[in-house]
Amino acid sequence: MLGQMMDQPLLISSIARHADRRFADQEIVSFTVDNPRHRYTYRDAFSRARKLANALARHGVEQGDRIGTMAWNDYRHFELYFGVSGSGLVCHTINPRLFEDQLVFIINDASDKFLFLDPMFVGTVEALLPRLDNAPQLVILTDDGHMPETSFDAVSYEAFIADESDDYDWPLFDENTASALCYTSGTTGNPKGVLYSHRSTVLHSFGVSLPDVFDLSAKEVAMPIVPMFHVNAWGIPYATALTGTKLVFPGPKMGDPAVLQELIEEEGVTNSAGVPTVWQGLIAYLDATGKRIDSVKTLVGGGSAVPYSLMVAYEERYGVDLVHAWGMSETSPLGSMFHTSPALEKLPEEERQKARASQGAPPFGVELRIVDDEGGVLPQDGEAVGALQIRGPWIASSYFSADGPGTVGADAFTADGWFDTGDVASISPLGYMHIEDRAKDLIKSGGEWISSIELENTAVGHPTVKQAAVIAMPDEKWQERPLLVVVPEEGATIDAAELLGFFNGQVAKWWIPDAVAVTDAIPLTATGKISKLDLRKQLDAGKLTVQSPATA
Ligand code: AMP
Repeated sequence: MLGQMMDQPLLISSIARHADRRFADQEIVSFTVDNPRHRYTYRDAFSRARKLANALARHGVEQGDRIGTMAWNDYRHFELYFGVSGSGLVCHTINPRLFEDQLVFIINDASDKFLFLDPMFVGTVEALLPRLDNAPQLVILTDDGHMPETSFDAVSYEAFIADESDDYDWPLFDENTASALCYTSGTTGNPKGVLYSHRSTVLHSFGVSLPDVFDLSAKEVAMPIVPMFHVNAWGIPYATALTGTKLVFPGPKMGDPAVLQELIEEEGVTNSAGVPTVWQGLIAYLDATGKRIDSVKTLVGGGSAVPYSLMVAYEERYGVDLVHAWGMSETSPLGSMFHTSPALEKLPEEERQKARASQGAPPFGVELRIVDDEGGVLPQDGEAVGALQIRGPWIASSYFSADGPGTVGADAFTADGWFDTGDVASISPLGYMHIEDRAKDLIKSGGEWISSIELENTAVGHPTVKQAAVIAMPDEKWQERPLLVVVPEEGATIDAAELLGFFNGQVAKWWIPDAVAVTDAIPLTATGKISKLDLRKQLDAGKLTVQSPATA
């Protein structure tokens, strides 16, 4: 027997219509290329999103067409999220930091009909155009007065929507319709497209908004410092509209702690999300200037492991909860997030600390499991370590491909309906998941493995270390041993023997790296993560000066 309730599709436009009705006067504040403090309301945003939908329709796009964006976090990009997806088109967010070959691949693979770009990406796009198969129409996200010189035909965004009516009825369609597309920047092979749906996005927005997740409501002020071109800024722009949260966008200033602190203080930001390097940069700035971020309740850190020492520093010096979250492009990205529970509070201090340093527990909607090499499910006892798999209504079931589902990366999806994340983890009896490593970054020493993440987190707790990365070094006896690569704090000198001595008592003795290499900069990927592939190449090419205190 079926339930007898209305079959209302979960559409992104239903979020827009709700925000329009309930939170019309709530503010959206943006730092943009042409205005350091643009402010308007949800009413304005959705009115302009509807004009955009009319403009696109006038240009003959059809349901399912991909509309590319290459832009930072600001109000125009927000309008694109809703105007494009809401009208049944697919909002394809493109990471401008990718290499040219990857950009060419993904724009061709997606067959974008339009490309909406920030003025600062004109040069990038100029270089790509001769290599694109399907000449997308180009719109620059500015007004006529700020149009940059271009060697290609383009209109300004403001001119594109200027003469349109904001009278537009958001169409109704199947909630499983594709809404957005984002490519993962794999370190090997071509990037793979993740195709989100309206249903997955709306359900994910509920998940993100929960009190034990981002805790969003009309009383809060959220600032996503995660790019809207990478996993939809962790879904925050949809979730804030769903809950009526005031939104603050840092535009191209995501890496500028002075602007971030100013926006937090002046706009009263209560919740923010970013990768650990953002939080490291901000706390260094606060420490150096004596400035504060007193309005903040919660900072969410994810994308790579947040060092426990950083969480403690925020709590002790600024009274701010820096909370750990984990996810991937394929998981929308919310996979797990730390929050405490009465059961955890009853455990000894050491266990509570371990849980807080972990990547947290899955919210409703997500299930996690770990499996051994043969696919056997391992116990959630906090000890067993295995390949991390995930399933749920906002987890990818296959990768996008013009040749149809299942033609790309099919081996990441198991026969019994789980996605294999490529991460290696343990899960505690209370459900707290601890990422040990990316499977390919684990160091295999004498048949046992060592977690590079654990060693990196320990190293950045040392006062002379600004940044740390651990990679495997070939070893005759053990096959692989850990090499610690560090960038020193400004003015600090690294004493390799003393630094390695610091690991004593913090990690198993045989995990302690054998050697240290000091460098000026650790290479990063297009999504700002440590590029271990490039570090390994540097090591192979003899570009790292390796100090081995034991044999020195
Ligand atoms: P991406 O799809 O580019 O967002 O990358 C996802 C990958 O980032 C995951 O598979 C993890 O390896 C890594 N990652 C994300 N969040 C965390 C975290 N909190 N701790 C450790 N690794 C993380």
